[in-house]
Amino acid sequence: MSLVYSTDSGRICPACRQPVAACRCRAPAPPPAGDGIVRVSREKQGRGGKLVTVVRGLPGDAAGLAAWGKRLRTACGAGGTVKDGQLEVQGDHADRVLALLTEAGLRVKRAGG
Ligand SMILES: [Zn+2]
Repeated sequence: MSLVYSTDSGRICPACRQPVAACRCRAPAPPPAGDGIVRVSREKQGRGGKLVTVVRGLPGDAAGLAAWGKRLRTACGAGGTVKDGQLEVQGDHADRVLALLTEAGLRVKRAGG
């Protein structure tokens, strides 16, 4: 024996008793913003390019990222950019960046090279 949830307007969600068309129970949860771990890697920019220190997974909005960018560039005495949610500092500053982020209480991992 099975329960059949239906009305003239269609199937009813057994969880929220709303028509399935209006149900939000099964709406996929928004993907989490990363896994909470900040990753720092050294990468080459372009062909035979210079080393850049790349930071991914920093928490915060665009303004927060920009603030981090400024802080790291100042600490490293180097230029850099923030784009697409990732932060770049020109040159090899992975060690310093790792130390700063760790000091700030973030979970930091070294990734790549
Ligand atoms: Zn529902």
